[in-house]
Parts: sequence; structure tokens; C-alpha cells
Amino acid sequence: MEVELKRKLESMVSSPVLWDCPLCDYTSFAIGGPAMALVTVEEMSELQRVLVFLQEKKILWRIIGKGSNLLVNDRGFAGVILILGKGFGSISQLKTELNFVSYPTEDISANSPLAVSEGPVIQVGAGCSLARLVSWCTDQGLTGLEFAAGIPGTVGGAIIMNAGAWGCEMAGVLVSVTVITSAGEIRILPRAELDFGYRIWHDYPSQLPSVGVTGEERCVRLVVVGVELQLAPGDQEQIRSLCQSYREKRRLKQPNKECSAGSFFKNPKGDAAGRLIEASGLKGVRVGGAMVSPVHANFLVNSGGATAEDVVMLMKKVQAAVQKDSGILLEPEVHFL
Ligand SMILES: Cc1cc2nc3c(=O)[nH]c(=O)nc-3n(C[C@H](O)[C@H](O)[C@H](O)COP(=O)(O)OP(=O)(O)OC[C@H]3O[C@@H](n4cnc5c(N)ncnc54)[C@H](O)[C@@H]3O)c2cc1C
Repeated sequence: MEVELKRKLESMVSSPVLWDCPLCDYTSFAIGGPAMALVTVEEMSELQRVLVFLQEKKILWRIIGKGSNLLVNDRGFAGVILILGKGFGSISQLKTELNFVSYPTEDISANSPLAVSEGPVIQVGAGCSLARLVSWCTDQGLTGLEFAAGIPGTVGGAIIMNAGAWGCEMAGVLVSVTVITSAGEIRILPRAELDFGYRIWHDYPSQLPSVGVTGEERCVRLVVVGVELQLAPGDQEQIRSLCQSYREKRRLKQPNKECSAGSFFKNPKGDAAGRLIEASGLKGVRVGGAMVSPVHANFLVNSGGATAEDVVMLMKKVQAAVQKDSGILLEPEVHFL
């Protein structure tokens, strides 16, 4: 980027711009080359200004949350990585209680908040971590988000991924999403107009002009800046103990020592990716520093010094073996950058 443009970008934000910033420090995989720049935007007006500037100057950008579902390629990202700062971390409860409309999705079970007919609505900034949100809801005695206990990441990332566990998912508690476009326009998208599936916000990938797993650059055109979620009043102790039991199950079933991006592949309909990978005898298989976790076969882990290329090669190896044995092509859940 030209010196003049660099100065302009630096003048638009209150946090220091990090040039040539290693993205391995911003992903749970601890993998990835440098971004040309990493910019933390502290408030909406900064974000608007920066987006308009990047659009005008045709500079590639991508927003990330906590990088807990991202594989960043070894060459890095020839553009600007945006991160939502403290100004996007607020949580507040609205006074009004909206009528709840149910939107059934594939993996919703009886303990989903969909069973609730109406309840308190909260507004949450997209930069808020799921951990802080779950803890806030527990303190307030609000039930519905216990499933998210132990899922790393931000609220924005959780909406994009339609994050879920134990038969519940973000779409099940969603009232609306507030987004800002690359032209700096703010839009409120009601849940009724949005199409969510298993680990996917279907409307969102249409914003990605080039989708692929080979590490090519992708240009995202929407930033989620906030959400409204509908919960239900509940017993604080019951909420706390359910959250704890979910965290404990994770501790027992998932690899805790190595870096990963959680489950690497989506579960195919009616089956579990982990079961299929294990059945193909792939637990412990390695490519370079990347390994199929011996603890949970759907976790591809960085066992030390793994490159993105190692992970992609391991991914292809797993896909080929599982397809040969079961006829099923596993689709990655992880996003690529
Ligand atoms: C140990 C471990 C366990 C996990 N367990 C689960 C689980 O049980 N269930 C589950 O669903 N997931 C799980 N995950 C995956 C991950 O935590 C979730 O997908 C999480 O919601 C990702 O949030 P993030 O903020 O880290 O998003 P990132 O990984 O930073 O980003 C994910 C995608 O969203 C985009 N994005 C992020 N923020 C925004 C925004 N504000 N606006 C627009 N686009 C945005 C990014 O560009 C990227 O494409 C796990 C991960 C780990 C490491």
C-alpha cells in the first residue's frame, strides 16, 4: 500500500494499525502468514469510514472474530484484516418482550429455546465473546444460550457460522442481525428474511464472490455489527449447572492440549464426521505438523509447527479415505482465508 494511503488509514482509527501482522497470533489453529494490515475498529463511525475507504481504494479486506473457525494460508492475506474492538462488545436487555416466532431447523431438539413462546430480548454487539455473553445470561437468569458454553469466538462469528451444540444453534434464538455493508450502510435483517442451515448462514456465502479451499483470497462484503436474541427467564443455578456440564463434556471429549479450529468437517446428514474418520482408521494420522486428533477424529490439530498446507493436505487425505470407505465426501466447516 502506498505511504499516503497507509497514513490515511492510520488517521481513521484510534487503535494503532498493525502492518505486516502475523495472523497465526489471531487464530485458534496458530497457523497463518501475515496480513498486509490488521485494523481494530473501536466504534461504528470508524468502521463506516474504514469500509468506505477500503471500497473506494479497492483494497481487499476481511473481518474476523476470534479466528476460532479459520484456516489462514501460509502466504497470509494481501489486504486489511478488520477486528471489532471494545465498542462492539455491549450487551443490554430491551424493555419490550417480542412475540417469539419459531423457525425450525434440522438440529433443533426439545431443549431448544424454540419451545419458548415469548421472552426477553437482548441486544449484543458482534464483537462480544460468546463466553462473556453466556456468563452475562447466567448472571441475569436468562436461559437459551447454555449450548454455547465452551464454544470459543465472537457473537459475529457465531452468527456467520450458525454456531451450535447439543441440538441447539444461534439461529434458534435469533430475532435480527444488524449488518453494515462495504458501502457503509447499516441494515437490520429480521430473522424471518434469513436462511440458516447447519453451521451456515446461507445468505452470507452469496457475499463471497470466490469460494474455495485452496487459499485464494475472498472478499466479504458484510460485517455483522450486532444481533438481537430472544431468551427466556430461567433459574440461575440450573443455567449455571447446565453450562458447567456442557463445558465438562467438552473437556472429556475434545483435545485440550493442541491448537485446532474445533470440528473440521460438517457432520453429514444422519452421521458424524468423527465416526466416519475413525472408522477409516485415521486417528493419529499426520501430514507434517497437522494430525487427526487421537482424542476426537473430527479435530485436525496443530501438533506443533503445522503449516496451512499441512492441514489442507491432511484434509484432502481424510476426505479421500472417507469417500473411498463410505462414499461420503466430507465438507469442511472451517472457513479459509
Ligand atoms: C476448541 C473449539 C471448539 C469449538 N466448538 C464448536 C462447537 O461446539 N460448535 C460450533 O458451532 N463451533 C465450534 N467451534 C468453532 C468456532 O468456535 C465457531 O464457529 C465460532 O462461532 C467462530 O467465531 P469466531 O469469532 O472465532 O469467528 P472466525 O473464526 O474469526 O470467523 C469465522 C467466519 O466468520 C466471519 N466473521 C467473523 N466475524 C464476523 C463479523 N462480525 N461479520 C461478518 N463476518 C464475520 C469470518 O470472516 C469467517 O469467515 C469450536 C472451535 C474450537 C477451537
